[in-house]
Amino acid sequence: MKPPSLRIAIVGCGTAGPAAAVLLKRLGHEVVLFERADECKAVGAGFLLQPSGMVVLKELGILDEVLAHAAKVDRLHVLDSTGDTLLDLRYGEIGKGSFGAGLHRPVLLHHLIAAMNEAEVDVRWGWEIEDASKSDGRWILKSTDGNKCSGFDLLIVADGARSKLRDLAGTGGVNRGYPWGAHWFIGKNDGVFPENELYQVVHGTRRLGGFLATGRDLDGGDPLVSLFWSIKIGDDAAWRARPIEEWKRQILDICPKSAGLLDQITGWDQVLTARYGDVRMRRWYGEGIVVLGDAAHAMSPQLGQGVNLALADASCLADCLARHPLPEALVLYQRRRRLALRYYQFATRWLTPWFQSDHEWLSPIRRVFFGISRRIPLARLLMTLSMAGLVGTGRCSSEK
Ligand SMILES: Cc1cc2nc3c(=O)[nH]c(=O)nc-3n(C[C@H](O)[C@H](O)[C@H](O)COP(=O)(O)OP(=O)(O)OC[C@H]3O[C@@H](n4cnc5c(N)ncnc54)[C@H](O)[C@@H]3O)c2cc1C
Repeated sequence: MKPPSLRIAIVGCGTAGPAAAVLLKRLGHEVVLFERADECKAVGAGFLLQPSGMVVLKELGILDEVLAHAAKVDRLHVLDSTGDTLLDLRYGEIGKGSFGAGLHRPVLLHHLIAAMNEAEVDVRWGWEIEDASKSDGRWILKSTDGNKCSGFDLLIVADGARSKLRDLAGTGGVNRGYPWGAHWFIGKNDGVFPENELYQVVHGTRRLGGFLATGRDLDGGDPLVSLFWSIKIGDDAAWRARPIEEWKRQILDICPKSAGLLDQITGWDQVLTARYGDVRMRRWYGEGIVVLGDAAHAMSPQLGQGVNLALADASCLADCLARHPLPEALVLYQRRRRLALRYYQFATRWLTPWFQSDHEWLSPIRRVFFGISRRIPLARLLMTLSMAGLVGTGRCSSEK
């Protein structure tokens, strides 16, 4: 028997929110999505869409449109500043035709919003939800400018790493953050960085540069590349007080081929700072409430999984609600997401200090460790599956 249809409120129009909205509306639920921005505004560096995320975009019916703008990535290549390869993982190892996709946030958001419009989701732009309470077992949402909207059977919190609402689940949740983050910039790809790889250069544990070809923006135009440069968040203000040329010089020191890209940067206003969250929650649901995406499990982007995990959360929740009524569906959701989410949280916390920390002594150990593990077929496979977002999903390839 089909579970009864629900009135559902979703807070946040990033990745998890709109994906959940479309899938739940298609199941016949009444869905209202609240977003604090006044209009569709995606900010953020390029990101790597993984095979795990592609499965969900296919379910949403927007995979081909999204991939039309993407750079097809088949390799993660990490070099030491001496030029030696530290890691070289290829998607092809997990299945013929598997690949990642370098993309721009606005491209993904544009197509998610188009899918919401097609599904006729009720979207309330300009609503910043500051609190929610219950009356007769149903949620009432309150916005910062005093507006209220009521009568929701289920509240889906998808308001990102700095969530104000995750505490409503009553299961404890904290964002510890990382002391490290990144400076990032999106520029024209003059052909120096191949379209088909995520290229990274490391020097010790304090310097790391990432260059990801991210296809084309919505309006077509030149192929683009995103630059990520590791920084200690505490040093951000000091860096910004110095001439931009000093910042560029340290990148050139370990990656001379970035000269053309860096020439496109003439001032600090072109360089943005990203802080990494580390959200820990004991449980991702409470009574009539569930927390998805970064609000539930933000992590450092070392493994490039955030968008993909947010999409998979939405898909899993919709599937649980298609099979079971409310309380059981949320229990099942927790059970089905636990393995993948706990694995990626653990792996990211473990991996981050090897690439972003003050522990320079880890650097020679890293060289030996990765040197050995990339020669062991099982270890290579686990690393490649982890990169592709497929650990804990029960899938062995992109299923594209
Ligand atoms: C530098 C960097 C690089 C990254 N690289 C990758 C990568 O390669 N691959 C990858 O998969 N992930 C990557 N990520 C992570 C990825 O960006 C996030 O994990 C992903 O966007 C999470 O989606 P979300 O829907 O949970 O939250 P978000 O995208 O943060 O969306 C939250 C939404 O909620 C809205 N909101 C917030 N509060 C309220 C409120 N009170 N009321 C109403 N609306 C509200 C916000 O305006 C926003 O639209 C990276 C992150 C960083 C910082």
